[in-house]
Amino acid sequence: MSTAVKMEQTVSNFIAKPVKMLIGKDWVNAINGATFPVYNPATGEVLANVAEGRKEDIELAVKAARKAFEEGPWHKMTSSERGKLLWKLGDLLEKHLEEFAQLESLDNGKPLTVARGADVPLAADLFRYMAGWATKIEGSTIPISVPYTPDTKYLAYTLREPVGVVGQIIPWNFPLLMAAWKLGPALATGCTVVLKPAEQTPLSALRLAELIQEAGFPEGVVNVVSGYGETAGAALAAHPDVDKVAFTGSTEVGKLILQAAAGNLKKVTLELGGKSPNIVFKDADLDAAVAGAASAIFFNHGQCCCAGSRLYVEESVFDKVVDGVAQIADNIKVGAGFDPNTQMGPLVSDEQLKRVCSYMKSGLEAGAKAVAGGEKLGDKGYFVKPTVLTNVDHKMKVVEEEIFGPVVTVMPFKHADEIAPVANDTIYGLAAGIWTNDVSKAHSLAAKLRAGTVWINCYNIFDAAMPFGGYKQSGWGREMGKESLELYTEVKSVCVKM
Ligand code: NAP
Ligand code: MG
Repeated sequence: MSTAVKMEQTVSNFIAKPVKMLIGKDWVNAINGATFPVYNPATGEVLANVAEGRKEDIELAVKAARKAFEEGPWHKMTSSERGKLLWKLGDLLEKHLEEFAQLESLDNGKPLTVARGADVPLAADLFRYMAGWATKIEGSTIPISVPYTPDTKYLAYTLREPVGVVGQIIPWNFPLLMAAWKLGPALATGCTVVLKPAEQTPLSALRLAELIQEAGFPEGVVNVVSGYGETAGAALAAHPDVDKVAFTGSTEVGKLILQAAAGNLKKVTLELGGKSPNIVFKDADLDAAVAGAASAIFFNHGQCCCAGSRLYVEESVFDKVVDGVAQIADNIKVGAGFDPNTQMGPLVSDEQLKRVCSYMKSGLEAGAKAVAGGEKLGDKGYFVKPTVLTNVDHKMKVVEEEIFGPVVTVMPFKHADEIAPVANDTIYGLAAGIWTNDVSKAHSLAAKLRAGTVWINCYNIFDAAMPFGGYKQSGWGREMGKESLELYTEVKSVCVKM
C-alpha cells in the first residue's frame, strides 16, 4: 500500500492565499482585482487562485521591463555580473528542488519522481549553462575591402547587443523548464522580460520569480504576469514597445502570435507542435527500441511537443515491437503524481482529456485497433490509458494531427529507402527517432529527415547545450544552445575611418 508524499509547508503556504504577480519590484494583484482558479489535475479540485493579469497589467509590466532595460542598473552591469546572477538562480532552484518538484507535480499532474529527476534539475542546469555564456556574447572584427584608395583605412567590427524588452509566452507541459528555456538566454544576453505562463500551470513560474528577486536581479528585469492567452498573452504579443516575442505552444496560436507581432514587426521565435516519427529497423537492439518507443510517447503522458507519436516498424519485427510497446502500456501505473508508485499522471486539464478522448474515438471509428488502452481511466481526475493504435494510415486524423496525449500509432514499412518520405509526410518537423545498429543507415536517414532534432538509439535526450526547435510548421528559431542566444541579440556593425 503506497502512501502519498506529504506536501511541503512552503508549498502549502505559497498556494494558501491568492498568488500575486511580479511587476517591477512589487508583488501585485491584477488591476481589476480578478483572479482565476488553478486545478489539481489528479482530482479536478481547485489547487490555488492566481491573479488574472490582462491588457492593463501587461501595460505596466512592459513599462517596468522597458525602464529596467533603458535606465536601471541592469544595462550597466558587466556580463560577468549577469552570469553570476544566473548561476545563483540555478543554485537557488537546486536548493528548493523538492518544493519546485511538488508545485510542478500538483499543478501539472506529472509524477513527483519525474519533476524531481528531470524538470527541476534541467531548469537549474539551463540557468548555469546560460550563466557561462553571459561573458561570451561576442562580435567580430571584419576585414573590409573598401575604399580602394591605399591611404584610407577602416576598422570594422560587430557588436552583439540585447534585442531589448522580450515578451515570453509558455505552455503547461513543462511549466518550470519552459520558463527556464525562455529566461536563460534572454538574461544571459541582457534583455528584460515579461513572462506569461500558461493559465493551467502558472505556479512554478511565479515561485521562480521570487527566487529571481532573491538571487538579486534588479527590479523590472523579469516580470511575470499570469493570465489567459486571449487577453494577457495577446496583449503581450501585440504590444508596440516589446522588441521580441518568444512563444512556445500550439501551431495554431503560433500563427496568431505572428499576426499580433506584425504591428511593430517585433522579432518572433516560435516553438510549436509536432507529430514526430520514430523508426525501428529490424536490425535494432529490439529490447532497447521497444522500451525507447514506449517512453518516446508515454513520457510526460504524451504531452511533449516532440513525442514519438508516429511509430514506424520494419515489417518483419512489427508484431514483436507492437506487442512489446502494448505490454509496457498495459503495465504503466497511472495515478496521482504524488503517489510514489505512479509512472504516469493525469492529463493537465479536463479540456485536454476531452481532446485526447475525441482523437482516440475518431481513430477507432476510422478503423484503428487499440492493442492497448483506447479510453479514459476512472471517473475522477483527468486520466487516460496509455494507448497503442494499429491498423492506421496517413489519412486518419490520429496519424496526421498532434494529439498531445499518450497515444501512439504504429505502422509497418518494407524498406529503408521508403521510410524517409513517409516520416516527412507531415506539416511538422520537430523531432524524429531512429533505432538501428547499422551506422551508415542511421546517419543517411538522419540527413533525410526534415526535423530539428534526430535521436538515434535514444529519445527525449535534452541538454542545455543542444539546440532544440522545429523545421516546417514546428517553429522558427531554436531554444537552448548557442543558437538560442543569437536570437536574443541584434548585430550592430561599427565602421571607423582610421
Ligand atoms: P496554446 O493554447 O498554444 O498555449 C500556449 C501559450 O499561449 C499559453 O500560455 C496560452 O495561454 C497562450 N495563448 C493562447 N492563446 C493566445 C493568444 N491568442 N495570444 C497569445 N498567447 C496565447 O498551447 P496549449 O494547448 O496550451 O499547449 C500545448 C501545445 O504546445 C501543443 O501543441 C505542443 O506541441 C506545443 N508545445 C510545443 C513545445 C515546443 O518546444 N515546440 C513545447 C511545449 C508545447 P493560456 O494557457 O492562458 O491559454
Ligand atoms: Mg491553452
